Amino acid sequence: MELEMTAAGVQVHETTAGRVLLGPGARRCVPSEVDRLRAERAFVVSTRSAAHHVDECLADLGSRAVGRFDGAVVHTPVHVTEEALALVLASRADVIVAFGGGSATGLSKAISARTGLPQVVVPTTYAGSEVTPVLGETRDGAKTTRRDPALLPDTVVYDPELTLSMPRGLTLTSALNALAHAVEATWAVDSSAYTDALATEAVSSITQALPLVLDSPTDLAARGRLHSGAWLAGCCLAQTRMGLHHQLAHALGGSFDLPHAELHALLLPHVTAYNLPAAPAARERLTRAVGDDPVQVLADLAAQHDGARRLRDLDVPRDALRAVAERVAAAPYPNPAPVDVDSVTGLLERAW
Ligand code: NAD
Repeated sequence: MELEMTAAGVQVHETTAGRVLLGPGARRCVPSEVDRLRAERAFVVSTRSAAHHVDECLADLGSRAVGRFDGAVVHTPVHVTEEALALVLASRADVIVAFGGGSATGLSKAISARTGLPQVVVPTTYAGSEVTPVLGETRDGAKTTRRDPALLPDTVVYDPELTLSMPRGLTLTSALNALAHAVEATWAVDSSAYTDALATEAVSSITQALPLVLDSPTDLAARGRLHSGAWLAGCCLAQTRMGLHHQLAHALGGSFDLPHAELHALLLPHVTAYNLPAAPAARERLTRAVGDDPVQVLADLAAQHDGARRLRDLDVPRDALRAVAERVAAAPYPNPAPVDVDSVTGLLERAW
């Protein structure tokens, strides 16, 4: 499916109009956002890394705080959701507040999907999930994904102070994960004037702010620019169909249980190098955002990672690459460059 059109050839865009707060200290606005939703009983979910922010938030909420669950984990396992859900139901909460990365957001969406409760999400990484109508859940290792506008959080609160605790590696890989959402939107089959504007601004914000943050991790203005770039990049992911980059990340991540952001970070320069010759409009957009050699810019950023930079560093067996390429080529996501077994195997070999 390309861009949605009416029978009369009129373009249809469903944009996500959420409420977004952005700025240092924004987390302290959670209670007034809860009030704004006319909620009176807030249940707070988080990853353990955000537990002390939850302490502060519960104190700010005062008598409106009715419970907490700090056990959100990656890939939203259904058994964890059920554990949290039992507590939420027992607390008679009327709003979910989430603190953490994509894992906390995923748990918040999963609870909302089962209860209809509104959500206030406070992201502490650059994953972008907080502005997408998408939820991936795992049961016994198998992942299912649903897409539903009702999954979108009602309010998103970006507070760059919450990202100061991110270790260098997480800052870099999480920002490159966001960058991947924006880069892939530049060549998406259903890209539009709207997503092009989001994507080019996200790419310039992230590529300009990330080196500043890596040099000076406490630079709050640069952290704020990174957060707003991640917001726009998440909007790109929400508005466009994913291509080869996200398909490879899903296929490899699912097969070998790999770290989400690190995998995105290392794949991005390779997929971009592979796709750009077949995507002149995307090349033009990326060149406008980052200069003459977008692939080199992405590769230079990815090379700054002290952790895994190649698939082999993540213990992906080389002899398994062809089978991954076969699965991807059997049902390819829409992509500008051809998705055939030999080409994709070659791309994976280079990333290996
Ligand atoms: P995450 O939420 O799993 O966090 C990664 C690690 O970093 C965790 O150990 C966490 O505790 C820690 N952490 C988070 N914020 C921190 C901070 N500020 N300081 C120190 N440590 C911190 O990772 P993520 O990359 O944000 O999210 C990945 C998950 O989100 C995956 O499950 C992925 O599938 C999902 N996701 C979903 C969408 C979507 O649209 N549905 C989009 C992107 C990601």
